[in-house]
Amino acid sequence: MANMETDQDKTPQSLSAKFEGSFAYLTVRDRLPTILTKVIDTIHRNKNSFFEEHGEEGVSAEKRAISFLSKLRNELQTDKPVLPLTDEAEDAAAWNEYIHRQQDLMENKQPVSWFKSPWLYVECYMYRRIQEALWLNPPICDFDVFKEAKTQSFFESQQATISLCTYLRDLLTGVDKLTENQLFDAFLKFLQVSLWGNKCDLSISAGQDNSQKSSPIDSLADLQRFILVDDSDKVWSALMALQGSVGTEKSGARVDIVLDNSGFELVTDLVLADFLISVGQAKEVRFHGKCFPWFVSDVTKKDFHWTISQTMASNHRQMSACGVQWKRFLKEGVWSYHDHQFWTLPNEFCDMRADAADLYSTLQASDLILFKGDLNYRKLTGDRDWEHTVPFGRALRGFHPAPLCSLRTLKANVQVGLQSDQGEKLTSQEPDWMTVGKYGIVQFFCPP
Ligand code: MG
Repeated sequence: MANMETDQDKTPQSLSAKFEGSFAYLTVRDRLPTILTKVIDTIHRNKNSFFEEHGEEGVSAEKRAISFLSKLRNELQTDKPVLPLTDEAEDAAAWNEYIHRQQDLMENKQPVSWFKSPWLYVECYMYRRIQEALWLNPPICDFDVFKEAKTQSFFESQQATISLCTYLRDLLTGVDKLTENQLFDAFLKFLQVSLWGNKCDLSISAGQDNSQKSSPIDSLADLQRFILVDDSDKVWSALMALQGSVGTEKSGARVDIVLDNSGFELVTDLVLADFLISVGQAKEVRFHGKCFPWFVSDVTKKDFHWTISQTMASNHRQMSACGVQWKRFLKEGVWSYHDHQFWTLPNEFCDMRADAADLYSTLQASDLILFKGDLNYRKLTGDRDWEHTVPFGRALRGFHPAPLCSLRTLKANVQVGLQSDQGEKLTSQEPDWMTVGKYGIVQFFCPP
Protein backbone atom coordinates (compact mmCIF):
# COMPACT_ATOMS: atom_id res chain seq x y z
CA MET A 1 0.00 0.00 0.00
CA ALA A 2 2.87 2.37 0.79
CA ASN A 3 4.09 2.00 -2.79
CA MET A 4 0.67 2.71 -4.12
CA GLU A 5 0.49 5.97 -2.19
CA THR A 6 3.83 7.01 -3.64
CA ASP A 7 2.50 6.26 -7.09
CA GLN A 8 -0.60 8.35 -6.41
CA ASP A 9 1.63 11.28 -5.44
CA LYS A 10 3.41 11.02 -8.77
CA THR A 11 0.16 10.79 -10.72
CA PRO A 12 0.26 13.55 -13.31
CA GLN A 13 -2.46 16.07 -14.03
CA SER A 14 -5.50 15.20 -16.03
CA LEU A 15 -5.03 15.64 -19.77
CA SER A 16 -7.47 18.52 -20.15
CA ALA A 17 -4.86 21.06 -19.10
CA LYS A 18 -2.34 19.76 -21.60
CA PHE A 19 -4.80 19.92 -24.46
CA GLU A 20 -5.82 23.53 -23.90
CA GLY A 21 -5.20 25.56 -27.05
CA SER A 22 -3.61 22.69 -28.92
CA PHE A 23 -4.92 21.27 -32.17
CA ALA A 24 -5.87 17.94 -30.62
CA TYR A 25 -7.94 19.67 -27.98
CA LEU A 26 -9.84 21.73 -30.54
CA THR A 27 -10.47 18.66 -32.65
CA VAL A 28 -12.06 16.69 -29.83
CA ARG A 29 -13.88 19.74 -28.49
CA ASP A 30 -15.40 20.37 -31.89
CA ARG A 31 -16.51 16.77 -32.17
CA LEU A 32 -19.05 17.03 -29.34
CA PRO A 33 -21.24 19.81 -30.88
CA THR A 34 -21.14 17.85 -34.16
CA ILE A 35 -22.42 14.74 -32.40
CA LEU A 36 -25.12 16.76 -30.61
CA THR A 37 -26.24 18.28 -33.92
CA LYS A 38 -26.55 14.80 -35.41
CA VAL A 39 -28.53 13.60 -32.39
CA ILE A 40 -30.95 16.52 -32.76
CA ASP A 41 -31.29 15.80 -36.47
CA THR A 42 -31.92 12.08 -35.85
CA ILE A 43 -34.70 12.81 -33.34
CA HIS A 44 -36.26 15.31 -35.73
CA ARG A 45 -36.15 12.87 -38.65
CA ASN A 46 -37.99 10.30 -36.54
CA LYS A 47 -40.88 12.65 -35.81
CA ASN A 48 -43.28 10.67 -38.02
CA SER A 49 -42.48 7.35 -36.41
CA PHE A 50 -42.95 8.89 -32.94
CA PHE A 51 -46.35 10.10 -34.16
CA GLU A 52 -47.27 6.69 -35.58
CA GLU A 53 -46.25 4.97 -32.37
CA HIS A 54 -47.42 7.42 -29.72
CA GLY A 55 -49.66 9.97 -31.45
CA GLU A 56 -49.47 13.67 -30.50
CA GLU A 57 -47.74 12.74 -27.24
CA GLY A 58 -44.80 11.41 -29.23
CA VAL A 59 -44.53 14.63 -31.24
CA SER A 60 -44.59 16.81 -28.10
CA ALA A 61 -41.91 14.62 -26.55
CA GLU A 62 -39.80 15.03 -29.70
CA LYS A 63 -40.14 18.84 -29.46
CA ARG A 64 -39.19 18.90 -25.79
CA ALA A 65 -36.19 16.60 -26.28
CA ILE A 66 -34.90 18.75 -29.16
CA SER A 67 -35.29 21.93 -27.14
CA PHE A 68 -33.39 20.29 -24.24
CA LEU A 69 -30.58 19.18 -26.55
CA SER A 70 -30.31 22.56 -28.30
CA LYS A 71 -29.93 24.17 -24.90
CA LEU A 72 -27.30 21.57 -24.03
CA ARG A 73 -25.37 22.35 -27.23
CA ASN A 74 -25.42 26.02 -26.34
CA GLU A 75 -24.16 25.29 -22.80
CA LEU A 76 -21.31 23.30 -24.31
CA GLN A 77 -20.33 25.84 -26.94
CA THR A 78 -20.39 28.80 -24.57
CA ASP A 79 -18.55 27.07 -21.73
CA LYS A 80 -21.46 27.22 -19.28
CA PRO A 81 -21.31 25.47 -15.88
CA VAL A 82 -21.85 21.72 -15.76
CA LEU A 83 -25.35 21.19 -14.31
CA PRO A 84 -26.55 18.41 -12.02
CA LEU A 85 -28.77 15.72 -13.56
CA THR A 86 -32.49 16.03 -12.93
CA ASP A 87 -33.90 12.75 -14.28
CA GLU A 88 -33.76 10.72 -11.04
CA ALA A 89 -32.50 7.64 -12.88
CA GLU A 90 -30.64 5.03 -10.84
CA ASP A 91 -27.23 6.50 -11.59
CA ALA A 92 -28.19 10.19 -11.18
CA ALA A 93 -27.07 10.37 -7.53
CA ALA A 94 -23.65 8.91 -8.38
CA TRP A 95 -23.27 11.42 -11.21
CA ASN A 96 -24.29 14.37 -9.06
CA GLU A 97 -21.92 13.28 -6.32
CA TYR A 98 -19.15 13.19 -8.92
CA ILE A 99 -20.10 16.71 -10.04
CA HIS A 100 -19.78 17.88 -6.42
CA ARG A 101 -16.38 16.20 -6.18
CA GLN A 102 -15.22 18.07 -9.27
CA GLN A 103 -16.56 21.32 -7.84
CA ASP A 104 -14.62 20.78 -4.61
CA LEU A 105 -11.42 20.47 -6.64
CA MET A 106 -11.88 23.90 -8.24
CA GLU A 107 -9.79 26.78 -7.00
CA ASN A 108 -11.54 30.05 -6.02
CA LYS A 109 -14.92 28.25 -6.01
CA GLN A 110 -15.28 28.88 -9.75
CA PRO A 111 -18.12 26.86 -11.26
CA VAL A 112 -17.05 23.70 -13.08
CA SER A 113 -17.61 24.47 -16.75
CA TRP A 114 -17.34 22.45 -19.96
CA PHE A 115 -13.87 23.62 -21.00
CA LYS A 116 -12.42 23.82 -17.50
CA SER A 117 -13.09 20.19 -16.62
CA PRO A 118 -11.12 17.01 -17.26
CA TRP A 119 -11.85 15.92 -20.79
CA LEU A 120 -12.78 12.36 -19.84
CA TYR A 121 -15.42 13.67 -17.45
CA VAL A 122 -16.97 16.17 -19.86
CA GLU A 123 -17.18 13.71 -22.72
CA CYS A 124 -18.93 11.12 -20.54
CA TYR A 125 -21.16 13.84 -19.14
CA MET A 126 -22.36 14.86 -22.60
CA TYR A 127 -23.53 11.31 -23.42
CA ARG A 128 -25.30 11.10 -20.07
CA ARG A 129 -27.06 14.43 -20.72
CA ILE A 130 -28.24 13.16 -24.13
CA GLN A 131 -29.82 10.27 -22.28
CA GLU A 132 -31.35 12.68 -19.79
CA ALA A 133 -33.07 14.48 -22.70
CA LEU A 134 -34.79 11.21 -23.58
CA TRP A 135 -35.50 9.90 -20.09
CA LEU A 136 -37.20 13.18 -19.16
CA ASN A 137 -39.45 12.88 -22.19
CA PRO A 138 -41.65 9.82 -22.23
CA PRO A 139 -42.96 8.15 -24.34
CA ILE A 140 -39.77 8.38 -26.45
CA CYS A 141 -37.44 7.56 -23.53
CA ASP A 142 -36.33 4.21 -24.99
CA PHE A 143 -35.35 5.67 -28.35
CA ASP A 144 -31.70 4.90 -29.23
CA VAL A 145 -30.40 8.00 -30.99
CA PHE A 146 -27.37 6.08 -32.31
CA LYS A 147 -29.16 2.97 -33.51
CA GLU A 148 -29.15 3.98 -37.21
CA ALA A 149 -25.39 4.56 -37.24
CA LYS A 150 -24.70 1.24 -35.50
CA THR A 151 -27.01 -0.69 -37.82
CA GLN A 152 -25.39 0.89 -40.87
CA SER A 153 -21.92 0.02 -39.61
CA PHE A 154 -22.96 -3.62 -39.17
CA PHE A 155 -24.45 -3.94 -42.66
CA GLU A 156 -21.61 -2.12 -44.39
CA SER A 157 -19.15 -4.61 -42.89
CA GLN A 158 -21.05 -7.65 -44.21
CA GLN A 159 -18.31 -8.87 -46.54
CA ALA A 160 -15.68 -8.63 -43.81
CA THR A 161 -18.02 -10.45 -41.41
CA ILE A 162 -18.64 -13.21 -43.95
CA SER A 163 -14.93 -13.76 -44.58
CA LEU A 164 -14.18 -13.78 -40.84
CA CYS A 165 -17.00 -16.22 -40.02
CA THR A 166 -15.94 -18.46 -42.91
CA TYR A 167 -12.35 -18.45 -41.73
CA LEU A 168 -13.43 -19.42 -38.21
CA ARG A 169 -15.82 -22.21 -39.20
CA ASP A 170 -13.27 -23.70 -41.64
CA LEU A 171 -10.60 -23.63 -38.96
CA LEU A 172 -12.85 -25.26 -36.39
CA THR A 173 -13.70 -28.09 -38.80
CA GLY A 174 -10.11 -29.35 -38.56
CA VAL A 175 -9.35 -28.15 -35.05
CA ASP A 176 -8.47 -31.61 -33.65
CA LYS A 177 -5.54 -31.89 -36.05
CA LEU A 178 -3.99 -28.54 -35.10
CA THR A 179 -0.65 -28.55 -33.29
CA GLU A 180 -0.14 -26.25 -30.33
CA ASN A 181 1.84 -23.86 -32.56
CA GLN A 182 -0.93 -23.74 -35.14
CA LEU A 183 -3.43 -23.12 -32.38
CA PHE A 184 -1.29 -20.24 -31.06
CA ASP A 185 -1.07 -18.83 -34.57
CA ALA A 186 -4.86 -18.95 -34.93
CA PHE A 187 -5.25 -17.33 -31.50
CA LEU A 188 -2.97 -14.46 -32.59
CA LYS A 189 -5.07 -13.92 -35.68
CA PHE A 190 -8.38 -13.71 -33.80
CA LEU A 191 -6.87 -11.53 -31.07
CA GLN A 192 -5.46 -9.13 -33.68
CA VAL A 193 -8.71 -9.06 -35.65
CA SER A 194 -10.44 -8.03 -32.42
CA LEU A 195 -7.73 -5.39 -31.89
CA TRP A 196 -8.06 -3.86 -35.36
CA GLY A 197 -11.85 -4.20 -35.22
CA ASN A 198 -11.51 -1.35 -32.72
CA LYS A 199 -10.71 0.97 -35.61
CA CYS A 200 -14.44 1.01 -36.42
CA ASP A 201 -15.37 3.63 -33.84
CA LEU A 202 -18.18 6.01 -34.70
CA SER A 203 -17.59 8.44 -31.84
CA ILE A 204 -14.22 9.33 -33.37
CA SER A 205 -15.60 9.90 -36.84
CA ALA A 206 -18.61 11.73 -35.36
CA GLY A 207 -20.92 9.10 -36.83
CA GLN A 208 -19.38 9.01 -40.32
CA ASP A 209 -18.99 5.64 -42.08
CA ASN A 210 -16.08 3.80 -40.50
CA SER A 211 -16.88 0.22 -41.41
CA GLN A 212 -14.56 -2.63 -42.37
CA LYS A 213 -14.72 -3.48 -46.06
CA SER A 214 -11.64 -5.58 -46.80
CA SER A 215 -10.92 -9.10 -45.58
CA PRO A 216 -9.72 -8.71 -42.00
CA ILE A 217 -7.52 -11.83 -41.89
CA ASP A 218 -5.62 -10.81 -45.05
CA SER A 219 -4.75 -7.41 -43.61
CA LEU A 220 -3.10 -8.73 -40.44
CA ALA A 221 0.46 -9.21 -41.71
CA ASP A 222 0.61 -5.63 -43.02
CA LEU A 223 -0.72 -4.25 -39.76
CA GLN A 224 1.71 -6.15 -37.50
CA ARG A 225 4.31 -3.34 -37.56
CA PHE A 226 1.75 -0.88 -36.16
CA ILE A 227 1.35 -2.83 -32.90
CA LEU A 228 3.38 -0.75 -30.46
CA VAL A 229 3.09 -3.08 -27.47
CA ASP A 230 2.44 -6.74 -28.18
CA ASP A 231 1.92 -8.93 -25.11
CA SER A 232 -0.09 -11.55 -27.03
CA ASP A 233 2.21 -14.33 -25.82
CA LYS A 234 1.55 -13.36 -22.20
CA VAL A 235 -2.21 -13.46 -22.81
CA TRP A 236 -1.82 -16.89 -24.39
CA SER A 237 0.31 -18.11 -21.45
CA ALA A 238 -2.29 -16.87 -18.97
CA LEU A 239 -4.95 -18.91 -20.78
CA MET A 240 -2.73 -21.97 -21.22
CA ALA A 241 -1.82 -22.01 -17.54
CA LEU A 242 -5.46 -22.69 -16.73
CA GLN A 243 -5.92 -25.25 -19.40
CA GLY A 244 -3.12 -27.78 -19.23
CA SER A 245 -1.79 -28.91 -22.58
CA VAL A 246 -4.00 -29.38 -25.61
CA GLY A 247 -5.74 -32.73 -25.77
CA THR A 248 -5.67 -33.34 -22.02
CA GLU A 249 -8.43 -32.90 -19.45
CA LYS A 250 -9.15 -29.16 -19.40
CA SER A 251 -10.69 -26.90 -16.83
CA GLY A 252 -10.44 -23.73 -18.92
CA ALA A 253 -10.58 -20.08 -18.04
CA ARG A 254 -13.29 -17.54 -17.49
CA VAL A 255 -12.69 -14.65 -19.84
CA ASP A 256 -14.43 -11.29 -19.44
CA ILE A 257 -14.61 -8.92 -22.41
CA VAL A 258 -15.39 -5.32 -21.57
CA LEU A 259 -16.82 -4.30 -24.93
CA ASP A 260 -16.37 -1.11 -26.87
CA ASN A 261 -18.19 -0.69 -30.18
CA SER A 262 -21.14 -2.32 -31.87
CA GLY A 263 -20.98 -3.03 -35.63
CA PHE A 264 -17.94 -4.84 -37.00
CA GLU A 265 -15.91 -4.57 -33.79
CA LEU A 266 -18.53 -6.53 -31.86
CA VAL A 267 -18.45 -9.22 -34.55
CA THR A 268 -14.68 -9.54 -34.09
CA ASP A 269 -15.13 -9.87 -30.31
CA LEU A 270 -17.79 -12.56 -30.77
CA VAL A 271 -15.55 -14.45 -33.19
CA LEU A 272 -12.65 -14.31 -30.73
CA ALA A 273 -14.92 -15.55 -27.93
CA ASP A 274 -16.26 -18.35 -30.18
CA PHE A 275 -12.69 -19.43 -30.95
CA LEU A 276 -11.67 -19.41 -27.26
CA ILE A 277 -14.65 -21.58 -26.28
CA SER A 278 -14.53 -23.88 -29.29
CA VAL A 279 -10.87 -24.79 -28.84
CA GLY A 280 -11.24 -25.17 -25.06
CA GLN A 281 -9.12 -22.12 -24.20
CA ALA A 282 -12.00 -20.75 -22.18
CA LYS A 283 -14.96 -22.41 -20.51
CA GLU A 284 -16.95 -19.22 -20.09
CA VAL A 285 -17.02 -15.77 -21.67
CA ARG A 286 -18.78 -12.85 -20.04
CA PHE A 287 -19.45 -9.76 -22.14
CA HIS A 288 -19.81 -6.39 -20.46
CA GLY A 289 -21.70 -3.61 -22.24
CA LYS A 290 -23.38 -0.30 -21.54
CA CYS A 291 -26.78 0.30 -19.88
CA PHE A 292 -27.76 2.97 -22.42
CA PRO A 293 -26.52 4.33 -25.78
CA TRP A 294 -23.01 5.67 -25.22
CA PHE A 295 -20.17 7.24 -27.22
CA VAL A 296 -22.24 6.77 -30.41
CA SER A 297 -21.29 3.19 -31.19
CA ASP A 298 -20.85 1.42 -27.83
CA VAL A 299 -22.63 -1.90 -27.34
CA THR A 300 -25.88 -2.01 -25.36
CA LYS A 301 -27.82 -5.15 -24.48
CA LYS A 302 -30.13 -4.58 -27.45
CA ASP A 303 -27.18 -4.16 -29.85
CA PHE A 304 -25.60 -7.34 -28.52
CA HIS A 305 -28.65 -9.53 -29.08
CA TRP A 306 -29.57 -7.76 -32.33
CA THR A 307 -26.11 -8.48 -33.76
CA ILE A 308 -26.36 -12.17 -32.92
CA SER A 309 -29.87 -12.42 -34.39
CA GLN A 310 -28.76 -10.66 -37.57
CA THR A 311 -25.75 -12.93 -37.92
CA MET A 312 -28.03 -15.92 -37.51
CA ALA A 313 -30.45 -14.59 -40.13
CA SER A 314 -27.73 -14.11 -42.76
CA ASN A 315 -28.15 -15.78 -46.16
CA HIS A 316 -24.54 -16.80 -46.03
CA ARG A 317 -24.19 -20.35 -44.68
CA GLN A 318 -21.01 -19.84 -42.60
CA MET A 319 -22.11 -16.51 -41.18
CA SER A 320 -25.46 -17.93 -40.22
CA ALA A 321 -23.74 -20.97 -38.65
CA CYS A 322 -21.77 -18.59 -36.43
CA GLY A 323 -24.96 -16.83 -35.36
CA VAL A 324 -26.61 -20.17 -34.51
CA GLN A 325 -23.57 -21.21 -32.47
CA TRP A 326 -23.51 -17.88 -30.59
CA LYS A 327 -27.18 -18.18 -29.73
CA ARG A 328 -26.46 -21.68 -28.41
CA PHE A 329 -23.56 -20.41 -26.27
CA LEU A 330 -25.94 -17.86 -24.73
CA LYS A 331 -28.67 -20.41 -24.14
CA GLU A 332 -26.26 -22.80 -22.47
CA GLY A 333 -24.84 -20.02 -20.28
CA VAL A 334 -21.36 -20.48 -21.73
CA TRP A 335 -21.69 -16.88 -22.87
CA SER A 336 -23.51 -14.17 -20.96
CA TYR A 337 -24.13 -10.45 -21.30
CA HIS A 338 -23.84 -8.09 -18.33
CA ASP A 339 -24.19 -4.39 -17.80
CA HIS A 340 -23.46 -2.17 -14.84
CA GLN A 341 -23.98 1.54 -14.34
CA PHE A 342 -20.30 1.99 -13.45
CA TRP A 343 -19.32 1.59 -17.13
CA THR A 344 -21.31 4.74 -17.96
CA LEU A 345 -20.04 6.85 -15.06
CA PRO A 346 -17.06 9.16 -15.60
CA ASN A 347 -15.04 7.41 -12.90
CA GLU A 348 -11.56 6.08 -13.51
CA PHE A 349 -11.27 2.34 -12.95
CA CYS A 350 -9.06 2.79 -9.87
CA ASP A 351 -12.27 4.09 -8.21
CA MET A 352 -14.11 0.86 -8.94
CA ARG A 353 -13.17 -1.00 -5.77
CA ALA A 354 -14.71 1.81 -3.66
CA ASP A 355 -17.49 3.06 -5.94
CA ALA A 356 -18.69 -0.22 -7.49
CA ALA A 357 -17.52 -2.94 -5.10
CA ASP A 358 -19.96 -5.49 -6.53
CA LEU A 359 -18.56 -5.09 -10.04
CA TYR A 360 -14.98 -5.23 -8.77
CA SER A 361 -15.59 -8.48 -6.93
CA THR A 362 -17.32 -9.96 -10.00
CA LEU A 363 -14.25 -9.16 -12.06
CA GLN A 364 -11.99 -10.68 -9.40
CA ALA A 365 -13.46 -14.07 -10.29
CA SER A 366 -12.22 -13.72 -13.88
CA ASP A 367 -9.06 -15.35 -15.23
CA LEU A 368 -8.55 -12.76 -17.94
CA ILE A 369 -10.26 -9.43 -18.60
CA LEU A 370 -9.99 -7.97 -22.09
CA PHE A 371 -10.64 -4.23 -22.16
CA LYS A 372 -11.58 -3.11 -25.64
CA GLY A 373 -10.88 0.36 -26.95
CA ASP A 374 -9.86 3.85 -26.09
CA LEU A 375 -12.39 4.87 -23.47
CA ASN A 376 -11.57 1.80 -21.38
CA TYR A 377 -7.86 2.62 -21.74
CA ARG A 378 -8.43 6.22 -20.70
CA LYS A 379 -10.31 5.01 -17.63
CA LEU A 380 -7.68 2.37 -16.86
CA THR A 381 -4.92 4.98 -16.90
CA GLY A 382 -7.04 7.86 -15.57
CA ASP A 383 -6.54 9.74 -18.89
CA ARG A 384 -3.41 11.34 -17.41
CA ASP A 385 -0.45 12.95 -19.03
CA TRP A 386 1.80 9.99 -18.23
CA GLU A 387 5.33 9.65 -19.55
CA HIS A 388 5.17 6.98 -22.26
CA THR A 389 7.67 4.80 -20.41
CA VAL A 390 5.61 4.55 -17.20
CA PRO A 391 4.77 0.86 -16.67
CA PHE A 392 1.15 -0.07 -17.42
CA GLY A 393 0.81 -1.57 -13.91
CA ARG A 394 1.72 1.75 -12.30
CA ALA A 395 -0.72 3.73 -14.45
CA LEU A 396 -3.50 1.39 -13.25
CA ARG A 397 -3.01 2.79 -9.74
CA GLY A 398 -4.20 -0.24 -7.84
CA PHE A 399 -6.85 -1.44 -10.30
CA HIS A 400 -6.03 -5.07 -10.88
CA PRO A 401 -8.96 -7.34 -10.08
CA ALA A 402 -7.50 -10.10 -12.31
CA PRO A 403 -4.99 -10.48 -15.15
CA LEU A 404 -6.04 -7.91 -17.71
CA CYS A 405 -5.24 -6.86 -21.24
CA SER A 406 -6.06 -3.74 -23.22
CA LEU A 407 -6.84 -4.22 -26.92
CA ARG A 408 -6.95 -0.76 -28.36
CA THR A 409 -6.20 1.26 -31.46
CA LEU A 410 -4.86 4.63 -30.37
CA LYS A 411 -7.25 7.55 -30.75
CA ALA A 412 -6.64 9.50 -27.52
CA ASN A 413 -3.55 11.21 -26.15
CA VAL A 414 -2.53 8.66 -23.57
CA GLN A 415 -0.10 5.77 -23.93
CA VAL A 416 2.05 4.09 -21.29
CA GLY A 417 4.36 1.09 -21.17
CA LEU A 418 6.47 1.98 -24.21
CA GLN A 419 10.21 1.32 -24.56
CA SER A 420 12.52 4.27 -23.89
CA ASP A 421 12.67 6.51 -26.98
CA GLN A 422 9.75 4.69 -28.65
CA GLY A 423 7.36 7.61 -27.98
CA GLU A 424 9.92 10.26 -28.99
CA LYS A 425 10.70 8.45 -32.23
CA LEU A 426 7.03 8.17 -33.12
CA THR A 427 6.45 11.84 -32.29
CA SER A 428 9.28 12.95 -34.55
CA GLN A 429 8.10 10.73 -37.43
CA GLU A 430 4.38 11.25 -37.02
CA PRO A 431 3.35 13.97 -34.54
CA ASP A 432 -0.27 12.77 -34.29
CA TRP A 433 0.55 9.06 -33.86
CA MET A 434 -1.61 8.85 -30.71
CA THR A 435 -4.80 10.05 -32.39
CA VAL A 436 -4.77 8.83 -35.99
CA GLY A 437 -6.14 5.39 -35.15
CA LYS A 438 -3.34 3.69 -37.06
CA TYR A 439 -1.43 2.16 -34.15
CA GLY A 440 -2.59 -0.50 -31.74
CA ILE A 441 -1.59 -2.21 -28.51
CA VAL A 442 -2.07 -5.59 -26.89
CA GLN A 443 -1.00 -4.58 -23.40
CA PHE A 444 -1.16 -7.10 -20.57
CA PHE A 445 -0.89 -6.76 -16.80
CA CYS A 446 -0.96 -9.51 -14.21
CA PRO A 447 -1.41 -8.53 -10.56
CA PRO A 448 1.48 -9.51 -8.30
MG1 MG B 1 -16.77 3.31 -28.38
